[in-house]
Amino acid sequence: MDLLTTNPFDDDKLKEECGVFGIWGDGDASRHVALGLHALQHRGQEAAGIVSYDGQQFHAHRDVGQVADIFGRESVMLTLKGKAAIGHVRYSTAGGTLLRNVQPLFADLALGGFCLAHNGNLTNAMKLRKALVSRGAIFQSTADTECIIHLIALAQGKTVIDRLTEALRQIEGAYSLVCLTDDCVIGVRDPLGVRPLVIGKRGHSYIVTSETCALDIIGADYIRDVEPGEMVILDASGVHSLRPFPPAQHRFCVFEYIYFARPDSSIEGKSVYDSRKRIGMELARESGVDADVIIPVPDSGVPAAIGFSQESGIPFELGIIRNHYVGRTFIEPGQQIRNLGVRLKHNANRAMIAGRRVVLVDDSIVRGTTSIKIVEMVRAAGATEVHMRIAAPPTAHSCFYGIDTPEREELLASRMNVEEMARHIGVDSLAFISMDGLYRAMGQEGRDNENPQYCDACFTGDYPTQLTDREGQSTDDGQMSLLSRFA
Ligand code: SF4
Repeated sequence: MDLLTTNPFDDDKLKEECGVFGIWGDGDASRHVALGLHALQHRGQEAAGIVSYDGQQFHAHRDVGQVADIFGRESVMLTLKGKAAIGHVRYSTAGGTLLRNVQPLFADLALGGFCLAHNGNLTNAMKLRKALVSRGAIFQSTADTECIIHLIALAQGKTVIDRLTEALRQIEGAYSLVCLTDDCVIGVRDPLGVRPLVIGKRGHSYIVTSETCALDIIGADYIRDVEPGEMVILDASGVHSLRPFPPAQHRFCVFEYIYFARPDSSIEGKSVYDSRKRIGMELARESGVDADVIIPVPDSGVPAAIGFSQESGIPFELGIIRNHYVGRTFIEPGQQIRNLGVRLKHNANRAMIAGRRVVLVDDSIVRGTTSIKIVEMVRAAGATEVHMRIAAPPTAHSCFYGIDTPEREELLASRMNVEEMARHIGVDSLAFISMDGLYRAMGQEGRDNENPQYCDACFTGDYPTQLTDREGQSTDDGQMSLLSRFA
């Protein structure tokens, strides 16, 4: 069982599972990776790792915990020598939380050392693993990412790039990869471009990483996004681009804009903060309500609430204050602490609420557990009406592309319609942004149902890739047991 899903102080949010960072040609490579990972901490808080290369040898340090705790020690950083390094933060990818699953993964291949950090999730990993094990592969981890290493080891190409390409042609799902070899750093994005990956430059060194906020922290300039289906090679002569996959319709994860990415990042030329504000404005146009105050559920509801307030003309106030210092200390709380529930993390700012008609703006509803407690808290603080507006459509389907989601039946929107959810949460009214409204906020005319411009499968169930392992679960128990022996 995952401890985080049982934590009563959990935000009840979907969780991004990984962030990646790689740099080539920098005397302080590992230190810059550590800083970059620190900026990407929101993409994974359970474990982190860095592998560096000093021209002769690879050096690795991987551990469970947060980036500052793992890489804040000088003794650790001194071991990570070299002018090239890659790193990874992880929440919990396929395979569970074991030290041997902490990335980057690395292997000595016939063509030299190869290290790999992966953001995303493969949807045919169990099928591939079964086939690889039957060919004699010995897996060290339970992570889906390790399949890629074995596929590279068995590939026939003459160069590492050829072999990596051959391996990637066999996988399905979402991947933004950062790899380190003894003569380059490689960044690759899957043909649909589901997860983000950007290129930056700092002095003479080049960087590939998940988000632009990780470039900012080391004073690097953003160059451009890695295109869906593109492979970029960073080496002593600069950045080289390859297009090894047939072109496909791009299906970037729209939820990165709604919640996962940091608001100070830009993705594919769009400011995440600005996108969230525009979603809030669209929501106000679609589902306006007569009220006295707009209050965000902090922190992720803030930009949408600002947009809602600006569009509706209703004042914005910080009516809920978040305590940022509630950590894992309370992960197994006693009953008395458990009863306090959400109040340890959020508290009502009574002066902004009492006697007012309140609109609460949040980014999404997953199980609804936190929403119920927040509404109770706002009513107890004297709100005369409580309306809730959600900056995402109802989340009714699980994600299989690198986001930690509950099973479908645990998602409130998979069991109830909007009216039922409103009663369940205890609000006077509840509205979600429409699918077309979301696409309008993203600068489109609406959702192109024939050819959707984003991945929105957790709202629509329209998955942009095959879900081979999922489809095989009921018919091939052997695939499941193959992994469960290691969990
Ligand atoms: S299913 Fe949802 S969370 Fe997963 S990649 Fe698609 S839009 Fe993003």
